[in-house]
Amino acid sequence: MKHSSMAAFLGFAVLALLLVLPPACGKGERSAVPRPVVGVKLYEAAAPYDSLFGKWRELGINTLFVSETLIRTRDFRARAAAEGLPLFVIFPVFQNPEALKEDPGLAAITAAGTPARDEWVEFVCPAREDYLRRKIDQLKSLVADCDPYAVSLDFIRYFVFWEKVAPDRSPASLPQTCFCPVCLAGFEKEMGIALPSDLTATAEKASWILKTHASEWTEWKCRTIARAVERLAKAAREIKPSVKVNLHAVPWRQDDFGGAVRSVAGQDLPRLAPFVDLISPMCYHHMVRRTPAWVHDVVADISTRTGATVLASTQVSEAYIEQALPPDEFQAAAAEALKPPSIGVVFWSWDALAKSPEKQALLMRLIH
Ligand SMILES: [Zn+2]
Repeated sequence: MKHSSMAAFLGFAVLALLLVLPPACGKGERSAVPRPVVGVKLYEAAAPYDSLFGKWRELGINTLFVSETLIRTRDFRARAAAEGLPLFVIFPVFQNPEALKEDPGLAAITAAGTPARDEWVEFVCPAREDYLRRKIDQLKSLVADCDPYAVSLDFIRYFVFWEKVAPDRSPASLPQTCFCPVCLAGFEKEMGIALPSDLTATAEKASWILKTHASEWTEWKCRTIARAVERLAKAAREIKPSVKVNLHAVPWRQDDFGGAVRSVAGQDLPRLAPFVDLISPMCYHHMVRRTPAWVHDVVADISTRTGATVLASTQVSEAYIEQALPPDEFQAAAAEALKPPSIGVVFWSWDALAKSPEKQALLMRLIH
């Protein structure tokens, strides 16, 4: 064999070998979540875990979204690894009543000049560098200690109790934040806008900004959230390069409530998509008084706008409203969540599903 043809042969052989070899995997790595994803969100679980994991196997649950407490429970984590269930650790970012109790000065401030609070919803100002650094350190420790398959960034947005926002709600009635001194100074500096010096009360300043510079205000908010998402995602990947990053999205389509997904929540999904591996809208149709078909509408809207991988989450039982969520409606919403381009469904919550054998039976019929 001539040198040139030998070289060509070797080149071909190496190429063929590269094509047939599986990609290198880190310890305990899986290249992708199961398809379709059939996940549950859970925050607490008591040992022993035999019957719990047995039940999940029986139902076809193949992915777990868990709290920091649960993933830090060694036996639970080991059991999930043994069962081959990927763990997404839910990481709340700006919803933080404990931090606010310790330091009330961190609170996000409404247009009325008061701390942003609505029942259990209590938000930290999203522009505090010291707070964000703390969250970054916490996330790094969590990834280092627990080796999660994915981190699931939750409450990474501005304050709003969207779970109680019905379709007839006027955009003007939705809360605007954050008008704390740090945000007002940041907005002025970064957006090149000077507030009139005769405005003294926070409410006056907020009103002036919203009346005269609403689009710059929205841009500032979306930027602030994008920076937080970028930094948290980067921090997680610094510790574990293969970790997936998921973002919990407020389930508002682009034009719902006058574009409130950007102007109120500060979630500019096309801007956030490049920083994350998937986007998971919380399509809890019943609490926001929508139909099951709306679940797919939200997924389609996000997918079209971002090109991101989308994983819909649906609710299992009623919350915030008294009217029951019937089993057939639960099933219909789950079926909508399973429609492409969503890569599966995540149920909020396991506790609710555990209480309903009827809904469990419907789920099995849907996915088996
Ligand atoms: Zn602020």
